[in-house]
Amino acid sequence: MIKRAFKHIIIGAGVSGLTSAYQLLQQGETDFLVLEGRHRIGGRIFTENDIDLGATWFQGYHENLIRFMKELNIQKFNQYSEGRNILVYNSMAPAHYFETDQTQSSAFRMAGGSNLLIKALANSIKDKIVLDTTVSSIIEQPNHVKIVAGKQEFLSKNVIVTLPPKLAVQLEYSPRLPKELTEVMDKTHTWMSNAIKVCISFNTPFWRAHDLSGTIIGQIGPVTELYDHTNSNQTVFSLMGFVNEGLRDVSHEDRKETILLYLQKYLGNEIRNYIGYVEKDWSQDKFTNCQTIKSTYMLPQYGNQMFDAFYMNDKLLFSGTETSPVYGGYLEGAIYSGIRAAKYVVNS
Ligand SMILES: Cc1cc2nc3c(=O)[nH]c(=O)nc-3n(C[C@H](O)[C@H](O)[C@H](O)COP(=O)(O)OP(=O)(O)OC[C@H]3O[C@@H](n4cnc5c(N)ncnc54)[C@H](O)[C@@H]3O)c2cc1C
Repeated sequence: MIKRAFKHIIIGAGVSGLTSAYQLLQQGETDFLVLEGRHRIGGRIFTENDIDLGATWFQGYHENLIRFMKELNIQKFNQYSEGRNILVYNSMAPAHYFETDQTQSSAFRMAGGSNLLIKALANSIKDKIVLDTTVSSIIEQPNHVKIVAGKQEFLSKNVIVTLPPKLAVQLEYSPRLPKELTEVMDKTHTWMSNAIKVCISFNTPFWRAHDLSGTIIGQIGPVTELYDHTNSNQTVFSLMGFVNEGLRDVSHEDRKETILLYLQKYLGNEIRNYIGYVEKDWSQDKFTNCQTIKSTYMLPQYGNQMFDAFYMNDKLLFSGTETSPVYGGYLEGAIYSGIRAAKYVVNS
């Protein structure tokens, strides 16, 4: 049942959608709602027990993110990289060691986990976020758009759709979107939608005692990249990395054993003293991936100009990291697109 019309509706409570909401509020706009399909906010930011199973790192030149972090009082810390890194370039050869140049700027992490950004952005708009609301269609009406989510219907003067374009194109639109646009949306790969993350936790960061950074790089291994993922308070000691996609379809137990055996070879028997083991395969997450592809080996193209325009007679706008002409795919791109979308709807 339709209750009343909102001025703005944002679909998706990931970084981009929450950035738009935060910006709207900053500009004195209060008549809006954020509709989110999942039972949680954050989208591709997902931190559990101080472990970032989604986005983790950022750089000093990600200026909008850095500005927001300062504004929201979120501290940053360096990705741990002291000691020897391991390069695995050949399954027969012994480990190849190299060190990170500590004079070069490193990747940063958010103290408290990336989820802190989500919590801080959502803090002042909690009552405007509606969870468990999966939007299926957007219908243009003379002065509004009607947004359908299951048995619920919402009316709004305009709508910002922040779903990854490959998912957004699967919604039903009336009237239909231009073919040129739907083709672009369908071809836009969802960044990291094929990633499988693994995180293994320990009572101590035992690798540091062996002068190892915890970094292991090797495309031929079951874990293609591994890093120290100890939290900023130094209370949760973990190694976190990306699982080789070749292991996607084997059983959980077989994958886990293959990973542990591989890490045992390079980090020693202490790997078996783990106290926690978690995996997240983003390709299986229907709110990130549409299952039509699992992998992409082409450099994705983001920020197509077609996303820099309104549709449905100035009532519909697309946002989200894949629509961003700067740092598309990254958190910075999500924030950039969120700021841009809020500016556009306020000025429309
Ligand atoms: C494993 C992984 C590692 C990453 N690592 C990094 C990193 O280290 N650094 C970095 O900068 N970036 C990283 N990223 C990318 C980063 O997470 C994204 O750029 C960013 O989170 C995207 O935000 P977004 O709001 O554009 O999209 P999303 O976070 O995807 O938000 C879209 C929202 O829409 C919701 N939604 C979907 N369908 C519907 C529907 N039908 N109805 C209602 N709601 C719906 C989703 O649930 C979601 O909350 C990583 C991503 C992953 C998955």
